[in-house]
Amino acid sequence: MSHSSPNNPDILSRSLSAVWHPCSQMKHYESFPLVPITRGQGVWLYDFDGKRYLDTVSSWWVNLFGHCNPRINAAIADQLGKLEHVMLAGFTHEPVVRLSERLRELAPAGLGHCFYGSDGASATEIALKMSAHYWRNSGSPGKTQFISLQNSYHGETLGALSVTDVALFRDAYGALIAQQATVPSPDWRDAEAGECAEAYALRCAEALEEHLQRHHERLAAFIVEPLVQGAAGMAMYHPAYLKRARELCSRYGVHLIADEIAVGMGRTGTLFACEQAGITPDFLLISKGITGGYLPLSIVMTADEIYRAFYADETARGFLHSHSYTGNPLACRAALATLDIFEQDDVLNANRAKSAALNRIAQPLRDHPRIRDFRNTGMIWAFEVDTPHADFARRCFALGLQNELLLRPMGNTVYFMPPYVITEDEMQLLVERTLKIVKALT
Ligand SMILES: *Cc1c(COP(=O)(O)O)cnc(C)c1O
Repeated sequence: MSHSSPNNPDILSRSLSAVWHPCSQMKHYESFPLVPITRGQGVWLYDFDGKRYLDTVSSWWVNLFGHCNPRINAAIADQLGKLEHVMLAGFTHEPVVRLSERLRELAPAGLGHCFYGSDGASATEIALKMSAHYWRNSGSPGKTQFISLQNSYHGETLGALSVTDVALFRDAYGALIAQQATVPSPDWRDAEAGECAEAYALRCAEALEEHLQRHHERLAAFIVEPLVQGAAGMAMYHPAYLKRARELCSRYGVHLIADEIAVGMGRTGTLFACEQAGITPDFLLISKGITGGYLPLSIVMTADEIYRAFYADETARGFLHSHSYTGNPLACRAALATLDIFEQDDVLNANRAKSAALNRIAQPLRDHPRIRDFRNTGMIWAFEVDTPHADFARRCFALGLQNELLLRPMGNTVYFMPPYVITEDEMQLLVERTLKIVKALT
């Protein structure tokens, strides 16, 4: 297949010569061209020739209310006329104050303070540093280690990689990283025959308890992706695990960091995934969808007790971290507009109906003999395809583009994480075309 564009014939070669694309082997683009996008509208992305692609992955899990959403556009345009940016050390502004106040109202009770970063990985870095610094300020300087779940993903900077369990990264960058220990993932696909998701989650929580019992004196925090481990291939698990993890972390004096960078902002059906377990973590990480997919922004919400441990006369007891664009006003306005849409459109309720509709429409996928472990949490769907093709992901991506779909499988796991504005007609198209692609590749 070819993506050469009559309307902009050299954009691909110019991109390949000047842009080093992320998460890519650049040489693969010789046989597997880039897709040049010129505009977006709702769930659709358009290339230079006007061909459209349904953005089933919300552009790497960030978009919530469609591309070029008029309400978010208007909020950013309004802010542009007032203040584009000011440093947040020593200065403040209305958008960052309002966003912090609103998040405090919306998040699980007790998370009273918002610390700002620029992307997901920096939120992870902030939480890890803040947790260890808290213990140092509290007279336990030996608590400097962390644990995460098997197959965890918390970002790709060196600190975040130390709590990320991806073999490819460990092989390439292990020498640079103080790799931290992992505990078993409650992913229900790993349950024994006849064992339900909840029973398996509780069995994994026992393994967590053993680890905490043995190592708590050295442990600062346990970092976890609540309910869905995204980069692990949309591994889903029962909220009982989180409830138990909260109890155990409190009992053993270890912080619980909820990384809701991907699952927050309504993705799992509640505004924050932790709500489904009825817990308040010590740190709540927010990014990706918070700006509706418009601008980079991340937030680390912390419990009051954490905040108080830094409040003192000495500079060195304060939290030492900054980014140039911390709390950028344009990004905060995009976030406020995103929260307005949640409120004005009663999005969480509307999504319950959308989720049920897509489950109904997707029945033929669920029934397909080569599809396994079809699963859904809120506005996330995933399944594995039994395929003879070792390069299934790339073939599926290519066939997707021919069928107006931006599908980006992880291995043989196909997932849908569409913008919330997807309509039933678009769901129908998504399922029919995906079924056609699965049939072609099995
Ligand atoms: C995407 C993601 C991150 C990293 O966010 P970036 O903005 O890509 O740095 C961290 N944790 C989880 C769970 C994510 O999905």
